[in-house]
Amino acid sequence: MGKGTILIVEDQDGFRRIYSDVLSKEGYDVLTAPDGEKGWELSREKRPHLILLDLGLPKIDGFEVLRRLRADNATKAIPVIIFSVMGEQKDIKKALEMGANDYTVKGFYTPRQILSKIKEQLDQAGVQRSASVYKILVKAGQEDAAKLEEDIGLAKGVKCPKCNAELVLELYPDYVREGGHWFDSRLACPQCQQPA
Ligand code: CA
Repeated sequence: MGKGTILIVEDQDGFRRIYSDVLSKEGYDVLTAPDGEKGWELSREKRPHLILLDLGLPKIDGFEVLRRLRADNATKAIPVIIFSVMGEQKDIKKALEMGANDYTVKGFYTPRQILSKIKEQLDQAGVQRSASVYKILVKAGQEDAAKLEEDIGLAKGVKCPKCNAELVLELYPDYVREGGHWFDSRLACPQCQQPA
């Protein structure tokens, strides 16, 4: 099983290739986009586990990509690490206020530092997901049936904040890749039909 999918949105070929190589070697599945429009499309279609986002991009810039990511239910929980250029403190501040999770300065952080930021964000996202939306991997094997049961068990006894009915865990087939079938899951209220 891979460590997760990371989308790199960066218009400079050199940077895109370097980070793509580093992340692939580290065991991540890597997607890349050379402009903001493609980056936004891939984010929606593939729902990567994390996005490395440049700010100065052709077509639509990184701020607009970030705005769309955070405004859309399908993408708003995806951790975003900004690629910034040295000396652009104002941009970093703005991106963090818009919901970016962290930033790196292009060319100044070592691959190891960037990897540690990525790992930190993925770990935090895993914790957040377990509260409402998270992914479940189901393989053909007994231990996975047990894992699924355990994951579903997390939903037991959780009440809807609106009508106090007990929430159920809904599973949505997400994608199939090496290692098994992934499902998106979320807690939903059977009574008022609202996702919790
Ligand atoms: Ca750029």
